[in-house]
Amino acid sequence: MEYLFEAVKENVFILAIWDSKWNSYNNCYFIVQEDGITLIDSSKEEHSSYLVQALKQIGKTPEDVTLVLATHGHEDHVQGTSIFKNAKKYIHHQERSLIECPEPDEFDFILLERGVIQNFEYFWVGHHTPGSLAFYHQPSKVLFTGDFLCFFGDPLSKDGLVSVGNDLRHEWLEFLRNGGVAKDELNVFLKGLETMNSFDVEVMCTGHGGVLVGDIQSFVSELLNVGNKLQEIEVKN
Ligand SMILES: [Zn+2]
Ligand SMILES: [Zn+2]
Repeated sequence: MEYLFEAVKENVFILAIWDSKWNSYNNCYFIVQEDGITLIDSSKEEHSSYLVQALKQIGKTPEDVTLVLATHGHEDHVQGTSIFKNAKKYIHHQERSLIECPEPDEFDFILLERGVIQNFEYFWVGHHTPGSLAFYHQPSKVLFTGDFLCFFGDPLSKDGLVSVGNDLRHEWLEFLRNGGVAKDELNVFLKGLETMNSFDVEVMCTGHGGVLVGDIQSFVSELLNVGNKLQEIEVKN
């Protein structure tokens, strides 16, 4: 199996590419709108042909992609963008020094701490890389978290790629409880979660592996509870 391609919601699609070198799915998302397709994250250069194949499945070509948004500058999120010649490409300004892309100047490094591009709201989450962003698509209520919150190297939920994913949620809570987020990054991570919870999110699309559907606010609140408790323990020590 080289990739999975599924609808997340009406007009929002996930392409989860199996990366045999990393033993993980690398996720890309297509949002199909009347004025063009938006791509969020693009996997590695060697995976470009899967993006073309996936677009073909919905009757589209790379020329139909008019906007590329990158959650951050790691190779598995930016390298596949070079085939999208008609697209404007945006990333946070702090990713300039670390972007792992053969032609970084394809991107405009203009995104700040918070803003709006077309019908996407974006906000800085700053965990994972200094300029990591999350994107919220207003019409579909889908949130794209990049690697701020993802399931890198994890098996898919037993319920499928796009599902409630209670098993994945449980594992992430355990991961956090067991110190999965470094102590010196916890504060920034929790701030990012708080910002996420100010949006009305129906689906959480992550940078790798599972997509979570429904009750996102309670999942994020649970993460906040666990994280805040860890911080209290830190303060007492
Ligand atoms: Zn990354
Ligand atoms: Zn990644």
